[in-house]
Amino acid sequence: MNRKALYFDGSSPVEQQVELTWENHVWIVKDPARTWRREELGLEMLAGDLHVTFASSEELLIIKNLTWDEAKRLGLHQRMTSSSRKMSLAIILALVTTGAFLGIYAAIRPVSYSIARAIPSEHERDLFDHITPIAFLNNSRCTDSNAQEIIQSLGNTLTEPGETPPTFEILDWRMANAFAFPGRRIYVTQGLLDKLESSEQLLAVLAHEQGHSDLRHNLGEAIQGLFKAYFWSIAVGDFSGALLVDPQLAKDLSDAEYSRSLEADADSYGGRKLYARGHDPKALADALLLISESKKDAEQDSSGDTRTSLRKLFKRMTKIFATHPETEVRVSTLKTQYPNVVSREALDQEQWRRLKNACQTE
Ligand SMILES: [Zn+2]
Repeated sequence: MNRKALYFDGSSPVEQQVELTWENHVWIVKDPARTWRREELGLEMLAGDLHVTFASSEELLIIKNLTWDEAKRLGLHQRMTSSSRKMSLAIILALVTTGAFLGIYAAIRPVSYSIARAIPSEHERDLFDHITPIAFLNNSRCTDSNAQEIIQSLGNTLTEPGETPPTFEILDWRMANAFAFPGRRIYVTQGLLDKLESSEQLLAVLAHEQGHSDLRHNLGEAIQGLFKAYFWSIAVGDFSGALLVDPQLAKDLSDAEYSRSLEADADSYGGRKLYARGHDPKALADALLLISESKKDAEQDSSGDTRTSLRKLFKRMTKIFATHPETEVRVSTLKTQYPNVVSREALDQEQWRRLKNACQTE
């Protein structure tokens, strides 16, 4: 049987390809012409390659990717069998562990949401005010109590009869943002009020945030976060070596995919509420565009920083996985769902002016 192999002559480190024959326990290397008997050779399998060493010299032969048939001829197949059996056991173990891991992991979300839905909304605040940084947010509130009353009564118009409305508050933060916290607390920043161009856009943002709150997104995510933190602390510590997926990547991808569906759900929930009250859900699309514009400005401001560029590059790469809901998709969904609704203000001019200047009264 002829086989090409790598040959080191023992004195120079250069490898050369040689023709190798083995028959009847005799190994013949052509050019340099050499002959060895099997008994003179040390044979060792290393990562699928056969390393052949010699009792009488420093020479070395490496037969890359030894085939089953060749191993059999060399009397090595028993060694191959046991190592390949070990390999398949390792693969099966990794598959089973990964499957169990993904199965349990996938169950965390529905279980968390079932728990969230089982908590009556009137108890949500008692439960979560103890574990969320409400004091920190309270310290950031604008002190203009009149403006706070205006935004609360604007938010109240989204509540159905008999329901307790969430609280709506303004934070003295420059960044344009709005978010819903567990405990039915909804916050908008002064930076967002500065950006928005109409009170209807503000109402639309409140409706979207109330969607997150009423659909128990924040509560479900918070409970899920507690489970996941516990889960990762076990999984990463003890099992990650046997997993076929990178746990952090799996986590990021599943979270990203989910955040997209949460946003879509809150958009359509808010859209329905606005439409039912004679307001234009397209105002949410306009607000989204204004917010994404202000994000772009913030990114451009720091474009000279290398670390920021790297972060941007990473962001672009992760877009391949559809991480974040693209604003354009959300905007066009809202625009096609409600093509003909006419826009109208949600507050009178004086109230709107008051909100625009909420944090600048001191
Ligand atoms: Zn949202």
